[in-house]
Amino acid sequence: NAIIRMFHVTKRYGAQLALDDVSLDVEANEFLFLTGPSGAGKSTLLKLLYLADSISEGQILLKGMNLSRLPKKRLPFLRRNIGVVFQDYKLIPTRTVFDNIALVMEVAGASAKQIKRKVGYLLRTVDMEHKAGAFPQSLSGGEQQRVAVARAICGDPDIVLADEPTGSLDAESAKVIMELLFGIHARGATVMVATHDEALLHSTRRRIVTLKQGRVVDLGL
Ligand code: ADP
Ligand code: ADP
Repeated sequence: NAIIRMFHVTKRYGAQLALDDVSLDVEANEFLFLTGPSGAGKSTLLKLLYLADSISEGQILLKGMNLSRLPKKRLPFLRRNIGVVFQDYKLIPTRTVFDNIALVMEVAGASAKQIKRKVGYLLRTVDMEHKAGAFPQSLSGGEQQRVAVARAICGDPDIVLADEPTGSLDAESAKVIMELLFGIHARGATVMVATHDEALLHSTRRRIVTLKQGRVVDLGL
């Protein structure tokens, strides 16, 4: 029961081949790591899945829907079911920490009470309660990263895609972030984490897919 299917996906940026004939199935409620050296294509692969970029060749099916044939008006609906942790966080500078995290629930029409409870839980978990009213530019990289993870899972998305979610964190904060991602996985989400955090990869028994120069060199099966 694959929730993500990639068939012979190639992505070029001009002459640069970022992904080269990648085929990959991700089962519903799988938790997998994506690794490989810098420039291997990890970010590109995630970008294609969260619909930030289009593929050059091949096909991607997300929940059975062919992304190349998706009517434009269905895009927002699909995106709402995908929580993304961007490598550069992409928090909204004009909204507070609380409002950044709450946005997805607001858009989905959750009540103020539900939002307060959920965002409160997430703020406590990532140890950012004291910064609920702060704006992103006043936060350290690690703090922004913790907020970005809280935001990505706040709407209980079906799919969570995280690009180096522990990249700017000390070991203790990294552990909290991974616990949150394991938590959302336990609640039914499919989770993909791009990382080259060796400690993390060595300590996991979960599937690890390895990319090199745009190709899958190990499916981790
Ligand atoms: P990783 O995340 O594994 O470090 P990326 O997916 O960021 O790798 O990059 C894969 C390759 O594609 C690299 O050679 C990178 O320079 C290139 N690339 C990625 N994005 C772009 C872009 N927007 N324009 C041109 N080249 C790009
Ligand atoms: P309670 O125990 O009263 O449900 P919590 O403070 O444990 O309250 O959780 C607050 C909200 O966050 C609840 O809706 C809970 O289901 C949800 N929640 C708990 N863990 C996670 C998680 N890992 N990811 C997303 N939401 C979660």
